[in-house]
Amino acid sequence: MGRKTAHVVRGTWFGHPLLAVDTHVGRLARRLGWTLRSEPRAVEEDVVAQLEADGAGSDAENLTVLGLRLILHGRRVCTARAPRCGDCVLREHCPQVGVA
Ligand code: SF4
Repeated sequence: MGRKTAHVVRGTWFGHPLLAVDTHVGRLARRLGWTLRSEPRAVEEDVVAQLEADGAGSDAENLTVLGLRLILHGRRVCTARAPRCGDCVLREHCPQVGVA
């Protein structure tokens, strides 16, 4: 089992405060300006630090829900090749880092 899957299982079933970082989560975290890094552990660190700096919770429930929402958003709206920023609910809050 890989790190991402292990984080999903540990967060969802056992309540561990972990963020599952896959390609979608990493890409969105960079586009949203939460990290400049690409290695999953580094992305996780930066996202948690960003949540804490913003006063948002970084507990297990928040991280699990955030991870799942970022994955769905990355599949449906903020895709790798053609992000649909015009249709995106995050547009007003997103610096669109790296988006042409
Ligand atoms: S505004 Fe664009 S870059 Fe930002 S999250 Fe939405 S689709 Fe992605």
